[in-house]
Amino acid sequence: MTIPTVLDTAHGPLNLPAFFPDATRAVVRTVDSRDLEACGVAGLVVNVFHLSSRPGAGLIKHTGGVHAFMDWRRPIASDSGGFQLMSMIRENPRYGTITRRGIHFTDQDGNRKKVLFTPERSIRQQFNLGADLMICLDDCPSPNATAGEVEVAVDRTVQWAGRCKAEFDRLLRSRQDAGPEPLLLGVIQGGYDKALRTECAGQLLDLGFDGFGFGGWPLTPDGELAEEILAHTAGLAPEHLPRFALGIGKPEHIVRCYQMGWRIFDCVLPTRDARHGRLYVFDASDPDRIDVRAREFYHFVYVRDEKHKRQTGPISATCDCPCCQHYSLGYLHHLFDIGDALGMRLATLHNLRFYTRLLELVAAL
Ligand SMILES: [Zn+2]
Repeated sequence: MTIPTVLDTAHGPLNLPAFFPDATRAVVRTVDSRDLEACGVAGLVVNVFHLSSRPGAGLIKHTGGVHAFMDWRRPIASDSGGFQLMSMIRENPRYGTITRRGIHFTDQDGNRKKVLFTPERSIRQQFNLGADLMICLDDCPSPNATAGEVEVAVDRTVQWAGRCKAEFDRLLRSRQDAGPEPLLLGVIQGGYDKALRTECAGQLLDLGFDGFGFGGWPLTPDGELAEEILAHTAGLAPEHLPRFALGIGKPEHIVRCYQMGWRIFDCVLPTRDARHGRLYVFDASDPDRIDVRAREFYHFVYVRDEKHKRQTGPISATCDCPCCQHYSLGYLHHLFDIGDALGMRLATLHNLRFYTRLLELVAAL
């Protein structure tokens, strides 16, 4: 069995590998769906927790689902939102508690009402959104968790995955339309402990999922890519099922994870960096000579840097993004200097195109 290069989804074939920008609240900040298509973006990740808070997953269902809501025609993955919730609670217990039943959370958005976020509720909301790739609610321990805490998280992740799967199967059976079915991904937890990762994956495989995600922190406590545990975890999932390296990552980390077998990636870096004026540029001046296996193959251009003020050329002469095709780095510097939103939009388009080109180059490895 070889690793597939295409994944069939309810919104068409998804070429693998693929990078999904984070459209947490049904928007990739500053750009619209036409912009995303123009940059070659293959799919998006929305966040169930945030969208169920505002505008409400039921409201999005009423509008025809999240694809119709934001007029996006390509695949969408819905992140359960557990990661963000748990990080908040673990940083500040006043936000809520985590039990076997689910995540008890005090809504910080206005009315401070108490919410019980369960695996079943997460799946129902993902159905309301109409996502193509749904992701099980999992228990993500902090990177500093003790061995005992990681063991509890694995146990809870498996228990929640079973409940997610049961709810997913129930909703599939009760579906009215006969269109292509969404896929459900289980999340493999276990911290930096290989034995726990193996145990978690084994139990998830018994439950039966359409794909797997890497759960937990993909970096070591000192900020390096957790290569050993990522490679070990990739090897635990069958090759024919999609493997989603959740939250990864930096360009060099995507290359490494691809070599391990991971095929779908999502990360806030390219869009967040763009809004802060940090632009990604391939080192090679000839686009045919970009070697993503090199130790260093790209660098940053800081758009606010005074030295760019009189620059008449684009950010990168080899980039075919809508920004580099029409505007100079000097103009972009000016837009950032006066704080105009157009600067952020153009920078976002450039960084997203860098990432989609990166994935094209990775696919050719
Ligand atoms: Zn560009």
